[in-house]
Amino acid sequence: MRCKATVLGLGMAFSTAVFPQAPAAPAAEFVPQLLPGEGLAVATPDGEVRLFGEAKKETPMGSLAKLAWLRLEGEDWLAMDVSYRCSGHDGTDKCWLAQGHGKVNLAKATQDSCNLAYLSWARAAAERWKKDIGEDAARVRLEDVFNPFLGNRLAPGEKVPSFTLAWVGDGDLLRTSPEAMARWLADPGQEQLLSMCQRLLLGFFGTFKPTTSWWMKTGTACVPSDPSITSAWVAGSNGQVIAVLHLPKGRGKVEGLARFRAVMGIQDKP
Ligand SMILES: [Zn+2]
Repeated sequence: MRCKATVLGLGMAFSTAVFPQAPAAPAAEFVPQLLPGEGLAVATPDGEVRLFGEAKKETPMGSLAKLAWLRLEGEDWLAMDVSYRCSGHDGTDKCWLAQGHGKVNLAKATQDSCNLAYLSWARAAAERWKKDIGEDAARVRLEDVFNPFLGNRLAPGEKVPSFTLAWVGDGDLLRTSPEAMARWLADPGQEQLLSMCQRLLLGFFGTFKPTTSWWMKTGTACVPSDPSITSAWVAGSNGQVIAVLHLPKGRGKVEGLARFRAVMGIQDKP
């Protein structure tokens, strides 16, 4: 199945420049049909970030935390061709998939959001940093990437913290809002991360045409006020537009992707 992405109405430029195959007529105003509690932020190539629904609401970021790890270590992990065998648990740490993800490389761990793979690679990275650049410099490097998501929840200090599952998407240590995440992804300094996401995540839905393909990173996060439910995140980009959607209830891969595709007008094409 091939996928054709269309975003209607995000400015005249979108219908012709971004989607050359789209009709030349001006697109209708982009009005996403959000459900109650959903928040969407859309960053356009001209640097504008448009907000819809509860786009400013900060909540635990779930597996979107893996994008911060890719920003920090992704290039090294790709170069090292990291792999991990997830059995579902490692000591007292548990992956969200009880039976485990099996053997994963960076692409599969990112697509499937394997927490134990990311945690294992993060812990190994911390040991490398200590040897290569020293703990103080490593802490600065870590904070440079993670501070936007930490608020003041990381105790001050000069040491690299012991990484736990909270650092890869579990719990509520790392938080963001659709607006904050979209602005972070749209920063010009993130070009390398965005191209890595394209490389690691495209292929979710089969073969894409480069000009119309969306990568999408899903996440499921806890809802601190109600442990019985989870919320869902999807961040994605087609190389031009960056969009971040938060659903107050749901699981990333199922509800998140369906809503993201509906809201952004990403259609399957036979
Ligand atoms: Zn796993």
